[in-house]
Amino acid sequence: MINYSYYENFKKIIRITAPMNNSSYSGYNVYVADSFNFLSEACSKFELANKKVCIITDSNVAHLYLSKIKGIFDNLASSVVSITLEPGEKTKNSKTIDDLYSKLIEYEFNKEDFLVALGGGVIGDLTGYCASSFKRGINYIQIPTTLLAQVDASIGGKCAVDFNDYKNMVGAFYQPLLVYENVLTYKDLPREERINGMGEIIKSSLIYDEDFFKYLEDASTMKTDNFIDFLVNIVINSVLIKKYYIELDPYDENERHILNFGHTIGHAIEYVTKYEIKHGQAITLGMAVSMRIARLKGYISLDDEMRFAKTCVSYGLSISMNFTKEFIECIINCLSQDKKSSCDSINYILLEKIGKACIKKDITQEDILTAMNYK
Ligand code: NAD
Repeated sequence: MINYSYYENFKKIIRITAPMNNSSYSGYNVYVADSFNFLSEACSKFELANKKVCIITDSNVAHLYLSKIKGIFDNLASSVVSITLEPGEKTKNSKTIDDLYSKLIEYEFNKEDFLVALGGGVIGDLTGYCASSFKRGINYIQIPTTLLAQVDASIGGKCAVDFNDYKNMVGAFYQPLLVYENVLTYKDLPREERINGMGEIIKSSLIYDEDFFKYLEDASTMKTDNFIDFLVNIVINSVLIKKYYIELDPYDENERHILNFGHTIGHAIEYVTKYEIKHGQAITLGMAVSMRIARLKGYISLDDEMRFAKTCVSYGLSISMNFTKEFIECIINCLSQDKKSSCDSINYILLEKIGKACIKKDITQEDILTAMNYK
């Protein structure tokens, strides 16, 4: 892992190279900063003076940052409008997308205008998918405000909405022109959302970087004297790990599947609990099952499994695997409908050791059942 020391007015720019149908597009910058002070600078190359901007947000986030962000775009663009949605996963569906299209038509938006996603992963996914399809593709910017969206959802161009309760069933690959992350939005997050983001951060360390995992492990037991240093480090290192996989496999056909560590079971848990269990927590339970499978198959040691469990718990994540028989049945049923399943074997991500993941094609439902039932 790379260590960054925080200093006031911090900014770091990470370039992500990613292809798009549009041949002139080569990628985008991810700004990681401690304020919104660099947003104008980050947007300067888009020549917004003759363009319209529509900020899409939710009511929790609007209350915190909309006037600030609108003020910044008011100084850059020809006109700025905003759309405020209900917060939460229940809004991430095709009905909301239809409403967004109607509004954009009413506001006379064209391909050269810009959408801005201001919010968590729900707003990012909705805005990204709307941008990918409206007039066959309109520009968009991500301003993620949850830890989870900053380290994961806003980067990589995967955007989707749920359909008939099926998670992320309708979507696209569509890259933003900019991702702007103000890490200090963390201070406004409810505790549950802070914990939620840690699930994806721990995942990134486990699949790719043992030193990063060790850093998280140590930080959880020591009282860190500079919390912003810690925040900057965990966000940047997670973004860099995601960048590695996006650039290797932009269309998620092979190596990028590794980012789905814990997600096969995690998505099933979200579905079965009707999204009562948040994404980061759900994938942590999914990782716990995967760690158990890996240990039972002899890939990792009991010590590795215990280190994983202890670190998750120290960041407030539950790894409790006291699943009821009925719950396990629902999960297994759900897995058979999962888009990653094929026949009775599942394309499954396991750890070979902490900091190194691999794709296994020979994990069966029996292996999953054994791990979930193991006491
Ligand atoms: P979310 O967008 O629902 O945000 C969580 C809650 O935090 C919401 O109530 C929101 O209003 C509130 N909020 C946002 N920023 C805040 C702030 N700074 N202060 C206070 N409250 C704030 O959830 P999420 O966890 O950010 O994202 C989850 C979604 O992301 C899921 O739909 C998941 O499928 C998707 N996702 C997408 C990708 C991808 O690659 N596209 C990756 C991971 C997750």
